[in-house]
Amino acid sequence: MLTPLSLGSYRGRFAPSPSGPLHFGSIIAATASYLDAKHHQGIWLVRMEDIDTPRVVAGADTDILKTLEAFGLEWDESVVWQSKRHTFYQEVLDSLTQNQQVYACQCTRKQIKQRGGFYDGHCRDLKLCNQSHALRIKQCFPIHSFEDGIQGQVHCSDHLACEDYIVKRSDGLYAYQLVVVVDDYLQNITHVVRGADLLEPTARQISLFQQLNYPIPHYAHVPLAVQKPGFKLSKQNHAPAVDKNNPAPALLAALQFLGIEPDNHINVNNVKELLNFATKVYSRDKIAKTPEIVVKLSEAGYQFTVSAS
Ligand code: GLU
Ligand code: ZN
Repeated sequence: MLTPLSLGSYRGRFAPSPSGPLHFGSIIAATASYLDAKHHQGIWLVRMEDIDTPRVVAGADTDILKTLEAFGLEWDESVVWQSKRHTFYQEVLDSLTQNQQVYACQCTRKQIKQRGGFYDGHCRDLKLCNQSHALRIKQCFPIHSFEDGIQGQVHCSDHLACEDYIVKRSDGLYAYQLVVVVDDYLQNITHVVRGADLLEPTARQISLFQQLNYPIPHYAHVPLAVQKPGFKLSKQNHAPAVDKNNPAPALLAALQFLGIEPDNHINVNNVKELLNFATKVYSRDKIAKTPEIVVKLSEAGYQFTVSAS
């Protein structure tokens, strides 16, 4: 039986995928989850989401941890690597399989696209048993909307809410949706604070928490830093890595992005001082209630206009 750690009052986490170094967008997400936890006297954890092995870059995990340290973002318990937790994920899949809550699916992406873009339950009753097929969950708890701690009421399309989604991929890898829920449960995470690019998957995660009979954490999504509307800062878009050797300017910009403006007496070149101050004055109410904010990265630093609504 899988059992989580003993219940704490506030447990948050930052869960980077080690597919490259941290950029300004990831520092915003890390800082927001850290401040939300620390402002509430909580525990803050780091989990390496290295489950999607083709996307993992060798050494990126170490680089990410060194960067977090340089930014003063210190975690409270040992870092967890998803690649070492396959037995947990398999145990959950086995119990879902025993309860006939998952089924094998042989449909290709192209076929699903031709049928309208959303999975229509095509293989639900086919009883396929080829090991190389993807596994989909029978959606029993469709979530049509949820309350987000920053963005407010979030609505999801019926198609998305009702879709039988993949929990194990045809290449044999455990799907993000499955592992993130199993780990948030096993690590006893009470509050998930992360970038708004993960707003949409949240409905599925809430539904999986319900299906597995796990307590549902609180969710809060900070605006996403984008290069232009719809284009997030990402490794794919060649967003530059933040500078580990000079972390203060990026940390200061991340704090400003979160609506925090240091007083005159704060030494803005000292990350510890910045974080201590920010922990005290942090409030979700200061964070803009919008899914995206355009950020320009120039020689002069990070430029953006934040208007909290
Ligand atoms: N590993 C995911 C990412 O880097 C984040 C997962 C999460 O915070 O739930 O996008
Ligand atoms: Zn199918």
